[in-house]
Amino acid sequence: MSDPVRVRFAPSPTGYFHVGGARTALFNWLFARHHGGKFIIRIEDTDRSRFKPFALKDLLESLRWLGLEWDEGPEVGGPHAPYFQSQRQAIYQEYAEKLVQSGHAYHCYCSAERLTEARQQQRAQNLPIGYDRRCRDLTEAERAALAAQGITPVVRLKVPLEGEMTFYDVLHGDITVDFASLRDDKVLLKSDGYPTYNLAAPVDDHLMGITHIMRADEWLSSAPYHILLFEALGWEHPVYVHLPVVLAPTGRGKLGKRHGAVSCLEFEKQGYLPEAMVNFLARTGWAYDDKTEIFSREELIQRFSLEGISSSPARFSYEKLDWLNGHYIRQLAPDDLAERLLPYLREAGLDADLEITRQLVPLIQERLKKLTDAVEWVDFIFAEGIHYDPADLVQKGMTVEDARRTVEAAATALAALEDFHSQGVEGALRPLVEALGLKARQIFGTLRIACTGKQVAPPLFESFSIMGKDTVLERLEEAGQLLADMEG
Ligand code: GLU
Ligand code: ZN
Repeated sequence: MSDPVRVRFAPSPTGYFHVGGARTALFNWLFARHHGGKFIIRIEDTDRSRFKPFALKDLLESLRWLGLEWDEGPEVGGPHAPYFQSQRQAIYQEYAEKLVQSGHAYHCYCSAERLTEARQQQRAQNLPIGYDRRCRDLTEAERAALAAQGITPVVRLKVPLEGEMTFYDVLHGDITVDFASLRDDKVLLKSDGYPTYNLAAPVDDHLMGITHIMRADEWLSSAPYHILLFEALGWEHPVYVHLPVVLAPTGRGKLGKRHGAVSCLEFEKQGYLPEAMVNFLARTGWAYDDKTEIFSREELIQRFSLEGISSSPARFSYEKLDWLNGHYIRQLAPDDLAERLLPYLREAGLDADLEITRQLVPLIQERLKKLTDAVEWVDFIFAEGIHYDPADLVQKGMTVEDARRTVEAAATALAALEDFHSQGVEGALRPLVEALGLKARQIFGTLRIACTGKQVAPPLFESFSIMGKDTVLERLEEAGQLLADMEG
């Protein structure tokens, strides 16, 4: 029996949460849920100059929006708390000390200036750049002398000078690294007492019982250092899965701001559903077969496997996301959609209420790609007044007088209506076609402009019914005035 799956998502909150990070979190979450394991959030905040409280808030809110609830981590705690690395300093110091004791790490007293100088020399002599290992073999006496000067050392990992290691990554296969190529004896503990990523991450991965590490490819080059550390401490290392980057829609370069929205909550703001986002992100770099695009959350959990992850980078397709979003919007129960639309309508400055939004949903549900699209479809319903070019009231093949007669006849017919349901409205307006001797397209075109201000609007009779008699009559009257003015 293998250990129960425990995976972690370990971000360093320094800015708005990128969808690439969301994809990494999602893959970890799906893997945990598929195996009935645990999904852990660990905040890697030991670089205190880069950590931003707003970024942490943005991160947690993004994960909650996507529905990626975590079993252990910030705000929920867990058996390995604290889950903020900045609060675990003593642990890292203890292991750094252990590594020094066992000869796998050493104290380095070099000043920043001396390191810069050394690098400049390497550059000038065309040598590979890296720490020149000056403190690696200091004698006891030399060390004591430096310590006596009051210099606080950093702790560096003692990377073997020769030999090689081979480790396995699920997506990359066997990777062999020549130690001679690892020029840097990486800093593990800084002089401010905080650990670097290269110490804190592997220590926590072990202490937190992580079984699989799924993270972005950019960390692959750190894995050999981490493995050295695991071995030095007599620990087994987790299974590695380094995920290819998410490419721009063009396929050239990483997805970035110039391609569109990239921060997770920006997508929420633009009117994407978390359901669509989850489906979309899962399909960015993972596939079940060569055709299925739509997966419910439950299906994703059931079908997710490491074998389905592509070893080559996937492109981010805004088009596909829009398509999926439209699909998920159409799938929503109408009342659910109404509730989700309401905040967007209000955000756009409309005085919308839930009851009317509910009535509008059947008219627009099929037409929305994003929740924000609704604003343009229904703003005329909630607006105090509408604006349009009066010339638009006069449809092709009509005179100004025809248009005026149309709005007046419609007003008369509708004023007499007791019941303003859409069938009643239709029953009152249809006969105008014959009575006025105009085409239906012309009449309803004029009435559409008069009451909605739009060339394209939701179905007219239903819209009128929702607007109510008073508003419709008011707008018809205004249109009549405008036309009378045009007639001069
Ligand atoms: N803190 C790293 C990051 O910001 C995590 C790397 C890892 O998962 O090991 O992406
Ligand atoms: Zn040194």
